[in-house]
Amino acid sequence: MSWISDVVAPKLKAFIGVNSSIKDNLWTKCPGCDRMIHANELHDNLMVCVYCSHHFHLNAPCRFEMTFDDGVYQQVDNVKVKDDPIKFKDIKKYADRLKEARNKTGLDDCISIAHGKIGGIQSVAFVMSFSFMGGSMGLAFGKSFSKAVDLAISLRAPLIGFTASGGARMQEGMFSLMQMPATIASICDLRESKLPYVNVFTNPTTGGVLASFATLGDALIAEPNALIGFAGARVIEKTMKSKLPDGFQKSEFLLRHGMIDMIAHRHDMTSKLKLILGYISGRSS
Ligand SMILES: [Zn+2]
Repeated sequence: MSWISDVVAPKLKAFIGVNSSIKDNLWTKCPGCDRMIHANELHDNLMVCVYCSHHFHLNAPCRFEMTFDDGVYQQVDNVKVKDDPIKFKDIKKYADRLKEARNKTGLDDCISIAHGKIGGIQSVAFVMSFSFMGGSMGLAFGKSFSKAVDLAISLRAPLIGFTASGGARMQEGMFSLMQMPATIASICDLRESKLPYVNVFTNPTTGGVLASFATLGDALIAEPNALIGFAGARVIEKTMKSKLPDGFQKSEFLLRHGMIDMIAHRHDMTSKLKLILGYISGRSS
């Protein structure tokens, strides 16, 4: 209870006639440095804090625009699957949760696929949206992921994935867990076709996504300070009965321990991708 926020702020807003639902959304508090950042400033800086470089989530259209040459790309529809395969209900019906997530994000699931050129090389990319049910991997994701791989194979193009996920979608039970071997099998198809997969870990990439296709990239890049791990640190601490080191499961820690190849600031991400794809395709020396 704060007298200033509960009493003064509403009166002040009423007095100056501010529509709070609009004005409040213009400012975001950075979790990295606690400073307030204006939405325009954040957007212009690719959703990176101008003060401390904290990397906020970046939506799929912005990610595609910054990744593909001249921001030109063709989006590909996701595969339609049967919603709610096991008629799951906790305190809310899964079908209702899906409806809410779709209304909130404008997406049909947590994956978006597009193709275009990166550094002149025809490429297929997919982006996972954490804002859609925590980027959880279910049937729709798995089928659409396979479609992205098949597209890469038909175009003879590398696949680039930007992962952000809390793991498997528990509301789909076994159908969700089956997406782990399914996505791995798709990556095997890509390998057999001698096409590369580059995975970019964004904050957070955890659970079943980390434990399946995400770590199978030929090159593994992470954004700074991204949480990358299978189980949560608290669960591991309780199981191991020991304190975990500082920065455990963060990009910098994983780079030091050889689990990823590179950390790239979002401003440098596209140039790093161009460099890697250039090397792999033999266009760079
Ligand atoms: Zn900050």
